[in-house]
Amino acid sequence: MTIKIRKESFGYIFFRQSDRKYFIVEKNFADSDLFPVVKQYFPEVCDSKEIVIVQNKDSKRSLNLSAPIGLYLEISQKCNLNCGHCYKPDEVGHKEMGLDQIKNLLRELTAMGVFEIRLCGNEPTASKWFFEVTKYIKERGLYLGINTNGFFGKRIKEYLGSLNPDLVVVSVDGKKETHSQIRGRGVYEKAIELLKYLRDLNINCRINTVLSKKTLKIFPQ
Ligand code: SF4
Repeated sequence: MTIKIRKESFGYIFFRQSDRKYFIVEKNFADSDLFPVVKQYFPEVCDSKEIVIVQNKDSKRSLNLSAPIGLYLEISQKCNLNCGHCYKPDEVGHKEMGLDQIKNLLRELTAMGVFEIRLCGNEPTASKWFFEVTKYIKERGLYLGINTNGFFGKRIKEYLGSLNPDLVVVSVDGKKETHSQIRGRGVYEKAIELLKYLRDLNINCRINTVLSKKTLKIFPQ
């Protein structure tokens, strides 16, 4: 288990890497006293080596956080689907960030003490930088979450299995009929296949459901 600690002017944030559970602690302690304090919040911690200080901020006294706890990052403005309820259609002609820009941004966010990056979309796996960016986030020790429609082939599915992200959120809007009407034929099967695959590998996953007027039309009162 890893507990990351970010020192704030008002105290600390304790962040558990395995499940993003965190506590805001509004008190300061000597570094040597930190371990028993962390143990009060996360009793499962048994060794001080499980504690990582990600930032030791020495700012003016303030009640503000020195940085966000987590961020949603859009690495693509494209998607391989055309869902009926999409609120983010492909942004044609939109200039996406280059790989170096994304890496610079991730380095800055790490240095600020951000704990979590959630890749979202449109569809993050549609980005040409998907493999590089996800590897880079993992290498930096950040909590990696990926929001996806799950509609891709074996290569990306198996890559996700080997990458072992901290969380994968798969869109499922209801039963097969509902999902297929909104997102297209064959999409539901792929999403379920991915969820089963991740579950068998013990990769943390859950579903995300979009409720919209279109969903209501499929299920009238
Ligand atoms: S998967 Fe998401 S981004 Fe892609 S078309 Fe559907 S709702 Fe839009």
